[in-house]
Amino acid sequence: MDCLFCKIARKGLPSDVIVYENDAAMAFLDIHPLSLGHTLVIPKIHYENIITLKEDEITPLFSAVKKITEQLMKVLSPHGFTIGINHGKDAGQVVDHLHIHVIPRYLGDGGRSIHSIIQNSSPYEEGLHNIAKKIRISQ
Ligand code: AMP
Ligand code: ZN
Repeated sequence: MDCLFCKIARKGLPSDVIVYENDAAMAFLDIHPLSLGHTLVIPKIHYENIITLKEDEITPLFSAVKKITEQLMKVLSPHGFTIGINHGKDAGQVVDHLHIHVIPRYLGDGGRSIHSIIQNSSPYEEGLHNIAKKIRISQ
């Protein structure tokens, strides 16, 4: 498979933008950064999204997210972070290899919160409790 992020994981592309890796995950700088330090964290194995991601990949992946967030805080001193996944083409996913955006936020950067992604939405015509009933995972 000719996946761009698989190539990065195999170090088939210039690796001087890689900022962290463990056995199963890797972090590298986004080529079109939204802010200083914008980093992508990927599993080294190809998974399209968090649904197909294997259970035992979760810990190393999110450990890498935590590690790089701590490091960005230490060296760049941002005022906050927006951390997230564009899951699926319709949600803005362009590269179909799971990646978590870690975007350092700075005062006055003009960016807004996750709540600004969708506006004027009122999805609970069925009622909040009915939707919760439908979604709830039984133990
Ligand atoms: P998404 O819309 O969540 O799929 O975002 C894909 C991200 O990958 C974008 O922020 C791109 O700037 C970034 N990107 C694409 N190609 C590369 C590359 N070769 N190296 C680093 N980041 C890349
Ligand atoms: Zn891939």
